[in-house]
Amino acid sequence: MTNPANHKHRQPTEIHFTLPDWLPSYIGDIDAIPGMDERMAFVLGAARLNTRYKTGGPFAAAVFESRSGRLVSLGVNLVTTQGLSILHAEMVAITLAQRKLGVYDLGNADQPQHQLVTSTEPCAMCFGAIPWSGIRELVAGARDEDARAIGFDEGPKLTEWQSALAGRGIKVVTDLKRTDAIAVLEDYRARDGHIYNSREGD
Ligand SMILES: [Zn+2]
Repeated sequence: MTNPANHKHRQPTEIHFTLPDWLPSYIGDIDAIPGMDERMAFVLGAARLNTRYKTGGPFAAAVFESRSGRLVSLGVNLVTTQGLSILHAEMVAITLAQRKLGVYDLGNADQPQHQLVTSTEPCAMCFGAIPWSGIRELVAGARDEDARAIGFDEGPKLTEWQSALAGRGIKVVTDLKRTDAIAVLEDYRARDGHIYNSREGD
């Protein structure tokens, strides 16, 4: 028998990622958050803590049941701390929700409608992931231009991304608590948080 650890060129047979230690206690015993402003405030609080504890980029997102406000999952950006480029907050929140509920389609007929609340508008990757996820409503705080203002890049996203989602029956709400969402981004910049980006034309 050879030691599998010696096979450095063998690809992994599973992937996992770990949420920050502070996150479960931040959720605490919250079951549902009825108000939309309060749902966004909850997400922005997580984005701020991710900055303060240096556990990733200044972004958070949560999946809620649209109508009841029941919290399904809370994700934060884990790209730099987990070393995986797909771990944007939206991708983490969607993945956690799907694993928790045991479905790849959060919009199937057996499910209540689900909403993704995100601290900043989705980048090209997360925009692309939303129609596949079954999310029926997207609610965003800061705009992509606000993320660009502190040096992040949103990738090659459609200019008409909102109408592209609407055309697939996904409701889009933007600028919810935008001022507070911008403050989270600026806090990250003020703390000299690491800025990483997608490949550009170099
Ligand atoms: Zn993204």
